[in-house]
Amino acid sequence: MQESYSIPIQSIELVCSKAYCLHMSMARVDKVHTLASGNKIYKLRPIIEYAKANNFKQIISFGGAYSNHIHALALMAKQYGIEAIALIRGEEKYAENPTLSDAQNAGMKLEFVSRQEYKKRDDVGYLDDLQSRYPQALLIGEGGNSELAIHGCAQMARDINKSFAQHRQRHLSIQQQSDILTVACGTGATAMGLITGLADKQSLIAYSVLKDDSLHTKMESFLNKNKSEKPPQYSLQKADFGGYAKLDKPMLDFILSWLEQTDILLDPIYTGKMCRRVVQQIEAGDFTKGQFITMIHSGGLQGWRGMQLRVESLAGVDAWIKIQDSLDES
Ligand SMILES: *Cc1c(COP(=O)(O)O)cnc(C)c1O
Repeated sequence: MQESYSIPIQSIELVCSKAYCLHMSMARVDKVHTLASGNKIYKLRPIIEYAKANNFKQIISFGGAYSNHIHALALMAKQYGIEAIALIRGEEKYAENPTLSDAQNAGMKLEFVSRQEYKKRDDVGYLDDLQSRYPQALLIGEGGNSELAIHGCAQMARDINKSFAQHRQRHLSIQQQSDILTVACGTGATAMGLITGLADKQSLIAYSVLKDDSLHTKMESFLNKNKSEKPPQYSLQKADFGGYAKLDKPMLDFILSWLEQTDILLDPIYTGKMCRRVVQQIEAGDFTKGQFITMIHSGGLQGWRGMQLRVESLAGVDAWIKIQDSLDES
């Protein structure tokens, strides 16, 4: 039985013509840890516990220079007292950025690899070479996608439902549980875990931020292999809005207006896109009257720190100050 985290639940009221007939809230998984991305904690915890239990000396993984996964791995490895090493795509100059500075301050060792070499991150021969350089290391893929990670995320659904039950004792106006949970997905590991942890009569909507048409097939094959008594309740929505990590003016404006309305800062890569798509669906009348929707804030806020110039050039200095203030508070 996995230890659970307490997840704050926040009601959401949107200025949106069709939102009046829905109950909406946000599950603040981003609050589980001040810096490490919320969903990455659920993904990494079972992996790190496995590494410790099996006497691995290090954990090695892969990521981009602003990766939430690498950042969370560094912080959690430190907390659990295991060495972490990351192969980072790109040049040495990125070592100074906020994400990688945090990682190194937590004791993580970084190796920078060319984009060419980084492409080999899933090749068996390449991984064998890496393993022979670090014979006592546990290698985990980019994004930390693995069966252990997926199982870790099932606990997130249970923790959210438990938080609702606790709120319910204090505020009778809050329903026992949400009809729909929503989550942003990259590799889909978090979504797959959540699906297996849903309560009866609950479903998940997964919002894919990647232009990756293979995700549905991947999810189906995982869910088929791990069949439970009840059929998986989920749907997959496209929310790439132009491609991975592309922050444009409409997306930034959306995030700023969400911040204004809810006091919640979304991240630019995952949760911003999910919420924007949810609002589009509300406006299109895709939800049923009376439905209770809980959007999962999966974290990723550390990623803002590399975006000051982008934000200022798109929306001015004031926009950056608003984001900065909100980061300082969180
Ligand atoms: C990594 C990440 C995701 C996506 O998780 P997957 O398991 O790869 O689908 C969603 N939200 C945030 C904030 C993330 O950092």
